[in-house]
Amino acid sequence: MISLNELLSTSTRIVAFTGAGMSTESGIPDFRSIHGVWSKYSPVLFKDFIFNEESRQQHWRYKETTWHEFHKAQPNLGHKKLRVWHEKGLLKAVITQNIDGLHQASGLPDSAVIELHGSNAYIHCVESISGDCQYRVPSPAFYEKLKFNANWPLCPSCGGYLKPATVMFGQSMPGAAMAHAHFLAQNCDLFVVLGSSLEVSPANELPFAAKKYGAKLAVINREPTLADEIADCVVRGNIGEVLGPL
Ligand code: NAD
Ligand code: ZN
Repeated sequence: MISLNELLSTSTRIVAFTGAGMSTESGIPDFRSIHGVWSKYSPVLFKDFIFNEESRQQHWRYKETTWHEFHKAQPNLGHKKLRVWHEKGLLKAVITQNIDGLHQASGLPDSAVIELHGSNAYIHCVESISGDCQYRVPSPAFYEKLKFNANWPLCPSCGGYLKPATVMFGQSMPGAAMAHAHFLAQNCDLFVVLGSSLEVSPANELPFAAKKYGAKLAVINREPTLADEIADCVVRGNIGEVLGPL
């Protein structure tokens, strides 16, 4: 095992890969921890959202309730540390599974944040997935107008279903973001996993790809992850406490 300090001081092309654990210190629960989201809500599959009214309602209820947590969250020490590394030219980009926009809120430019699972910051039309409709609105304006009732509004442009612009279980990954993430994983010298159980596929292939292409791999997570065995450095702890003193 190499220390995190040593890895950081000998790397100049760092790529961070973040999961829900990155934002628990900002007050957003992760999915799989004991008080995580899955302890209260069960996930809705994309095909059920499209074909089943009850599933659609269930997904919207979950999204509307959790939106308020997302909306008031602020970047934490970990997000700010990554921004500092980027300003120094060491961190090339953050590949994130998160949908909370907190990396951008910490000051990282959009071009340095690759969102693999979309964003909660927008509501879009399902027809935008095929490219047939471009309708998209910022979430704050949407939720402000919305009074919960049995019928969520349809797309004003084409009449399709609206949904938060996040990638649901069973939905295809955004091709351009995945290609960009693989390019970064293959061209970095240090790949740092922060706050991810690495149980969500195919995003969890990235640390393995980085390692295969010659990068060192560091994992900072409270609990064991699927990449610990191949990592050069594993730190168990809270991200803010680990990154803060570095
Ligand atoms: P996960 O819930 O599967 O894993 C999170 C991991 O982070 C856990 O292993 C946990 O032990 C660890 N962790 C939690 N807080 C931590 C902290 N402060 N410091 C260090 N480790 C910490 O999450 P995942 O791997 O990101 O996969 C779940 C999916 O959930 C993702 O696809 C993501 O889109 C979605 N999600 C996003 C958010 C968000 O945007 N903030 C929140 C919940 C879920
Ligand atoms: Zn539409």
